[in-house]
Amino acid sequence: MRPAFVLAALLLAAPLYPIPSALAQDGIDELVDNRVVFPASASQGAMVIGKVPAGSRVRYADRDLRVSGYGSVVFGIGRDEKGPLQVQVRRPDGSSETAVIAVTARDWPVERVNGVPPKTVNPPPAIAARIAREQAQVTESRRRDDNRTDFAQTFLWPVQGRISGRFGNARVYNGQPGAGHSGIDIAVPTGTPVKAPAAGVVSFASPDLYLTGGTLVLDHGFGISSNFLHLSRIDVKVGDRIEQGQVIAAVGATGRATGPHLHWGMNWFDTRIDPLLVLERGK
Ligand SMILES: [Zn+2]
Repeated sequence: MRPAFVLAALLLAAPLYPIPSALAQDGIDELVDNRVVFPASASQGAMVIGKVPAGSRVRYADRDLRVSGYGSVVFGIGRDEKGPLQVQVRRPDGSSETAVIAVTARDWPVERVNGVPPKTVNPPPAIAARIAREQAQVTESRRRDDNRTDFAQTFLWPVQGRISGRFGNARVYNGQPGAGHSGIDIAVPTGTPVKAPAAGVVSFASPDLYLTGGTLVLDHGFGISSNFLHLSRIDVKVGDRIEQGQVIAAVGATGRATGPHLHWGMNWFDTRIDPLLVLERGK
């Protein structure tokens, strides 16, 4: 029986005669959505949104996930995650369920980036200390777990242009292997306005970090954030509430960049995820 009919039957029955408790319990169980819904598989670098009964306790990767009033949860799958992933759900009624998610492996082509300033590839000790200090500040901004579900919006492109660098590619700078590329690069001229791909709150802004130049982090709630690097201008400040589509900055070539482009990265806390996969969720 569909829940709406059960509800109608209970409402009609209630004033006429008492409902036997077993029947009432059955009816209520059908009215509450007790399902735990996650995709059966997801790709490395994906943002996964799941649904649990509101009020559940959800554990994934040694973390209690924030659960929205509607029972939405979110987490990110790292580039090198092999899976299968396990999400443990304890419902308000005490019952538990473990969702198992297979991880689809991707391959990560090697991408050679030549012509970057040598001092940004092998920084002298004083500079290395500055880089570490700046990185710690950005990392700190990603610890927040705001109770906003801006991450559930359909994400928009922050700029329109050719993708010149993909997430996860194994980067080799001036012949020296670096870490996997942490976001996507979109080649557009200096000064191109950057629009917020989804709503959020500015959690970090600096005009001049050593490696990433003009750097902005926009927090979308529940640990999901976007970062925009190499900016020539930043139009907002920490704490500002940003609407989707609002102009927040301008593209540049500051920090370790070989030319003007927007680097757009996304995170779930300190796990980097692929903005392209987040954009494709809306399709
Ligand atoms: Zn980049």
